Amino acid sequence: MNMPELPSPTNTANAGLDAADRSLVEGVTAGQLRPLAKTITLIESQREDHKLRAQRVLEALLPHTGKAMRVGISGVPGVGKSTFIEALGLYLIEQGLRIAVLAVDPSSSVTGGSILGDKTRMELLSQNPAAFIRPSPSACSLGGVAEKTRESMLVCEAAGFDVIIVETVGVGQSETAVAGMTDIFCLLQLPNAGDDLQAIKKGIMEIADLIVINKADIDPAAAMRARSQIKTALHMLRPASPNWTVPVLTLSALHNQGVTEFWTAVTDYRKALTASGEFAAKRQQQAMAWMWELIDSGLRSRFRNHPLVKQELPELARAVKEGSTTPSLAAQRLLGHL
Ligand code: GDP
Repeated sequence: MNMPELPSPTNTANAGLDAADRSLVEGVTAGQLRPLAKTITLIESQREDHKLRAQRVLEALLPHTGKAMRVGISGVPGVGKSTFIEALGLYLIEQGLRIAVLAVDPSSSVTGGSILGDKTRMELLSQNPAAFIRPSPSACSLGGVAEKTRESMLVCEAAGFDVIIVETVGVGQSETAVAGMTDIFCLLQLPNAGDDLQAIKKGIMEIADLIVINKADIDPAAAMRARSQIKTALHMLRPASPNWTVPVLTLSALHNQGVTEFWTAVTDYRKALTASGEFAAKRQQQAMAWMWELIDSGLRSRFRNHPLVKQELPELARAVKEGSTTPSLAAQRLLGHL
């Protein structure tokens, strides 16, 4: 049997792009914001022809990606994410960097509305030409939202943004999704006991590379207590990297205190993991995990849409419920149609 020829990124990069898409690619790589926003809209579109175009445009942009620092930021509503991202963003712009802010918002997949990434939440940053803020797409599932955010992140990188912040609100699954697409995952905490225990319970602290106790200005002593509690808790967890001890910083986003120290910790992290080779390895693992996720979800939807599966599923489901066939036999029979 002849094996189909594999498309190589180099020979397909600009192939199949029509004039409109070529101009999107050129605009994005020139760092222009309008083509950037248009490309992200194309990526977020649910139309089949748009999906195809989006993939072609993305493929053409891929050689221009990979240079940014990808920073995940998470925390419960009200912890101060947008205040912090605005302070951090303005600080980075002062350092001559361009910053993009994207959101993975689980609420957007449920209600179609978004509580994150809203432009009015970061007023100064959103008016700054060195910043690009994009609210969360309202896709059908968290997986869909995460996938689109991941692709939007690549487009922002191709547009030359130096730092991409992916923000999410603390509800478990979305944090894992964001940690799976960023280089460093930062957890914002409030300076009160119990809060950190919640994070441990949900397994969030395990995936954090950096922990920040915000609002330290309100009660500095409480913030220090929370810091030592969290440090003790971290000792009980297995470190993700032998070359990195998760720092716990206290910070006041509102008063712009601790932002420099935060960024120093981020750059230290990058240096340490680059030296050990883990930085590149993590990105490779993330790309593989992403591919398998897409294969899994693609297979699932192909399966559910298969005419014979659709036809037989109700009857077999009934039989399984009644106990007249086993789940295993029913699954085998349905999978046999693929
Ligand atoms: P988000 O929901 O996590 O994005 O939180 P916001 O950034 O909207 O902040 C929620 C509230 O906390 C706002 O009223 C902020 O002004 C306030 N806030 C944020 N950071 C700080 C801080 O460092 N100190 C104090 N005292 N208030 C803060």
